[in-house]
Amino acid sequence: MQLLDVFWAPLIVLGIEKVRIVPRITASNPLDLYYMPYTHSLLAALLWSAGALLVYRLFVTRGLVGKAALVVALAVFSHWILDFLVHRPDLPLYDNTAKVGLGLWNFPAVAFALEAGLLFGGMWLYFGTAVVPRLRMVVFGLVMLAIQAYVFFGPPPASDKAAAWTALAAYALFAAVVARLERAR
Ligand SMILES: [Zn+2]
Repeated sequence: MQLLDVFWAPLIVLGIEKVRIVPRITASNPLDLYYMPYTHSLLAALLWSAGALLVYRLFVTRGLVGKAALVVALAVFSHWILDFLVHRPDLPLYDNTAKVGLGLWNFPAVAFALEAGLLFGGMWLYFGTAVVPRLRMVVFGLVMLAIQAYVFFGPPPASDKAAAWTALAAYALFAAVVARLERAR
C-alpha cells in the first residue's frame, strides 16, 4: 500500500522527482509536490500495481496465488485513490500533466480522522485473520498516530531531501517493528 511512497523517497533523494517545502500550501502538509510522474501519476500507479501483481506471481507459489496477487495489486493501487482524497491537485493523470486531488489536507481534522480510521480499521481486519500480540500492536499504532500528528501539526521539514530521508527511515523502522511484533506471537 505504501509502495508508491517507498519509491518516491529515493527518487526525491536522487533528484529525479521533485518537491519543495512551501509552508501552509495546505493546512496540514507543507510539501509542494510539483514533479512526480514516475511514482504518483495515475498511469504510473497502474503500472506499479501491475508490476506488483507480476512480481508476486513470479516469487510466490504457495496458496491462492492468483487471488492474493490481485489483492496485492489492489493494495498498491489503493495508495493513489487515498492520495487523491488528501492531496491538493498535484497528482498527474499521466506524465506531469492533468493534475487532480480533492485536497482533504486542507481540512486537517478530517484528514487526520481518515488516517486514524484507516490505520485502526486495517488493524482490526488484520486481527481477524492472524494471531498477533494485539495490545502491543495497538500501542504501536498509537505511537505511529502520534508521529502522524507531529507531521500534520508540527513544524515543516528542514528541506526537500530531509523530508524524503525522514519518510524512508520511518517506513523502514515501522516495517521492522511490525515484522518483529508478528514474530513475537
Ligand atoms: Zn503517496
